[in-house]
Amino acid sequence: MCSGKGGRDVAQFRFANLAGRAVLVNDTEYWDLERATSGTVSSDPMTAISMVNDIYRLAHDVLANTPTGTYDRRSLLAPVPSPSKVFAIGLNYKLHAEESAMDVPENPVVFTKFPSCITGPFSPIVMRGRAVDYEAEVVVVIGSGGRDISRENAWQHVFGITAGQDVSDRVVQFASKPPHFDLGKSFDTYGPIGPVIVSPDSFQNRDAIELSCSVNGGERQRDTTANLIFDVPTLIEYISRVTTLVPGDLIFTGTPAGVGASSKRFLATGDVIVTNVEGVGTMSNTCHSA
Ligand code: ZN
Repeated sequence: MCSGKGGRDVAQFRFANLAGRAVLVNDTEYWDLERATSGTVSSDPMTAISMVNDIYRLAHDVLANTPTGTYDRRSLLAPVPSPSKVFAIGLNYKLHAEESAMDVPENPVVFTKFPSCITGPFSPIVMRGRAVDYEAEVVVVIGSGGRDISRENAWQHVFGITAGQDVSDRVVQFASKPPHFDLGKSFDTYGPIGPVIVSPDSFQNRDAIELSCSVNGGERQRDTTANLIFDVPTLIEYISRVTTLVPGDLIFTGTPAGVGASSKRFLATGDVIVTNVEGVGTMSNTCHSA
């Protein structure tokens, strides 16, 4: 058993929500956490995430056992199905700030997406506007919560990393001055996340994670979190100065350049958005009209 900085065990695992149950997975097999830990870890994904220390302590042993079974990745649901809070960061890549004709921010531009917008990694996006846009993002899942978390300790509070789409209705977003980011980005289904949550210890460099987005096979966005203006520890310190973070809270860390708003190429019915985060995997969401 190895202990990480700050006392938490070091663990490499991929956590997922399979048919409503908390599981660890590899590419084809899963381990049901409740069964594999003899009931120590809850089968409910939200409760399981709050048992972050148990999962870090037991993950290695669980994965050494025979898997519970095999699974089809398209059956994975949102790994954090009902977060308490969903934060998102605007203009957090320099090139995206420039394409948006905005100044590079001096402080993080923090807004919220309503938790009810969260949906699965292969679920449809039900569009209700004529200027709906994609935003591929690396998403932080909080494990052990807290307030006034310092930059130095921030990664110890992260359960893991997942992929997200900060789907945005640009008409609603900019219908007011100043813009109301929250409403424009919180339509039902406008927050796909997944397909899995990967522990930070699994990354070669957790501060330089590649992300990309394509629409119907054509690449629109590609960058790395090494280019974030405000990195993950800074965001956690900044937000936790105001509000107590709790297990399962999400932080969408911002989107790279290449959004549809800059090229006036908005999403259309039937479009397939593919979002990839290095080390996490790929989400695929098809656009429908309400
Ligand atoms: Zn965004």
